[in-house]
Amino acid sequence: MKVAVIGAGWAGLTAAWTLHRLGHAVALFEAARDLGGRARRVRSRSLKLTIDNGQHILLGAYTETQALMRELGLDPNRLFHRERLTLQSADGTFKLRTLPLPAPLHLLAGVLTASGLNIKERLGLITLVARLRGQDWTPAAGLSVLEWLEQGRQSPHAICSFWQPLCLAALNTPIAEACALLFAHVLRDSLGGTKTATDVLIPRVDLSQLWPDELARQLGEQNGSETALHLAHTVRHLRACPNGVTIDGNGFDAVIVAGNTPSTLRLLKQLDTANDSQPYLDMLSTFSFLPIATLTLQLEQPWQLPHPMMLLRDNPRQLQFGQWLFDRSAYPQLQQDEASLVEAANATRLLHIVISDATALQAHPQSDVVNAIIRQVQTQTRRFGAMPRVTGHDLIIEKRATFAARPGLARPGVATPWPRVWVAGDWTDTGYPGVLEGAIRSGRAAARSLHLSLVQPT
Ligand SMILES: Cc1cc2nc3c(=O)[nH]c(=O)nc-3n(C[C@H](O)[C@H](O)[C@H](O)COP(=O)(O)OP(=O)(O)OC[C@H]3O[C@@H](n4cnc5c(N)ncnc54)[C@H](O)[C@@H]3O)c2cc1C
Repeated sequence: MKVAVIGAGWAGLTAAWTLHRLGHAVALFEAARDLGGRARRVRSRSLKLTIDNGQHILLGAYTETQALMRELGLDPNRLFHRERLTLQSADGTFKLRTLPLPAPLHLLAGVLTASGLNIKERLGLITLVARLRGQDWTPAAGLSVLEWLEQGRQSPHAICSFWQPLCLAALNTPIAEACALLFAHVLRDSLGGTKTATDVLIPRVDLSQLWPDELARQLGEQNGSETALHLAHTVRHLRACPNGVTIDGNGFDAVIVAGNTPSTLRLLKQLDTANDSQPYLDMLSTFSFLPIATLTLQLEQPWQLPHPMMLLRDNPRQLQFGQWLFDRSAYPQLQQDEASLVEAANATRLLHIVISDATALQAHPQSDVVNAIIRQVQTQTRRFGAMPRVTGHDLIIEKRATFAARPGLARPGVATPWPRVWVAGDWTDTGYPGVLEGAIRSGRAAARSLHLSLVQPT
């Protein structure tokens, strides 16, 4: 079959790769000049360095991502820095670390030995997670995370120091608005999984080197297979007929549209009205998005904090928006070749500060925000000695970082009302919030569904 994929984010790339492995001739169209979508490397003009579009982390529970990397001949254990879950505030007021014990004892012992929560709060946390497990990780429908925590008698202090940062990091949605059911799914797959499911995986190379570059290389090698990569090609026209589709005038047997919801909607609206197509289009138009900001600071020399990832206490009133601090010198960077040796050495001087739901930050002048966050980091890390001098910075605000994960949001599956059209993306009904693993699972599901429907029709 001659199949097209529109969009080369992690979902579209996975779909293209899976279809290619299933023996189809794939044409992959991407509007940008680079692969990877929201999870890609970018050239920072101010730092004169390659950095990521935003700091990303994965969890041990993200098994499909690791399986895909292995399929490409890559070793996730080499490309990720992997460590036990450690939630530790930079100012030393909170620390929770899972212990090297079988699940669920690793977590139980971690919570019981946590500092910064009193014994009642620690037992309350264990009780709530145990109750959720007893409910098969399904809280009542329609609840926000805050409502669920309040019903679960979590203290305001436990919510503020533990649950709120966890919810924002996982769902990029404020706790009072975030969907408790989706949050429970994240807890099920991490806290309720094996002891390695809670591990934190931090990329040791840039996001494109993690696997998209290798995928492009392997697709590019298959000249005989008609698989083709069209970068800097924004698809503008989509038509569908019972036996195929037309994309900017070129015919294909089927297509997977793997853009975000606004761009996917723009293309699907061009198709003839099919059965149920209006409710489907209406569902796509209900998605809204929230920003994530990543401030990268370049230091005069590597700092070597004792832990690569630490919690910051934010204080938006003083423009101290920082929520998580990543120190690249606190874990080994990977040097693939001579050129990346220099990049890796430079990377060890970088700190990344992450701000989820960065809506409020956008209302202020960037220089004020940057200076306030530098002061915030300096103050909250005082116990580690003076921070080396900041020699440069780059602030990236991704306005549509993820969809807002609110209760009751209806998310479509990968099949559409049009027989030759599928969709893929982190916004489809993956059971996950807007995360990399969801994008990969969606890309896989779309490719398999297309293959089954066209090659082995029932
Ligand atoms: C700053 C930031 C931090 C994040 N942190 C994490 C994290 O720590 N962990 C985690 O798991 N997730 C994180 N995420 C979320 C993660 O990046 C996304 O879930 C994932 O990248 C989504 O992939 P996707 O393929 O679904 O969509 P996208 O990456 O948005 O890909 C869609 C692609 O389609 C292309 N496209 C759209 N329309 C057209 C068209 N008409 N023609 C051609 N091409 C088109 C776009 O250019 C784009 O490349 C973060 C996101 C951001 C922005």
